[in-house]
Amino acid sequence: MTSLLSTLREVTPDRPNRAVQGLRDHTLTVTLVKQSDAEIRAIVRNGEAKEYRVIINDAGALCSCPDAFYRGPCKHVAAVCIAQLQQHQAHGTLIHLMHDNGVVLCGEASPRRFWLRWTWNALNWSDVCPTCVYRWTHPAVTA
Ligand SMILES: [Zn+2]
Ligand SMILES: [Zn+2]
Repeated sequence: MTSLLSTLREVTPDRPNRAVQGLRDHTLTVTLVKQSDAEIRAIVRNGEAKEYRVIINDAGALCSCPDAFYRGPCKHVAAVCIAQLQQHQAHGTLIHLMHDNGVVLCGEASPRRFWLRWTWNALNWSDVCPTCVYRWTHPAVTA
């Protein structure tokens, strides 16, 4: 299973945010070329009409942009991961992380799929709710 979340974790913290922003205002568009359990291939276009090829598989994430070459996983890789996760979200097929008391980490009231007593393995699943994972790995400073 291709690991979107662990790939996302390797991306520099500001890059997923830029990717989310880019997907929202359509300065970044993701076109899937191939998707299987083992590998995702996609073309990412940015505002300047540049095109980058992204491949994510068990060996890691590759992008054809200079940023990825010099500095590792780039915002294009993040964009592909996030677009995939948003698709799961749109279809209600994301797995949410649930506490023993029935509270879902991201606040989803009636999750169709959830996971009680999840393990670190959650980071290796491709369809776990990214908001739940974020809350879990970045516990809020309680006011
Ligand atoms: Zn890139
Ligand atoms: Zn969630």
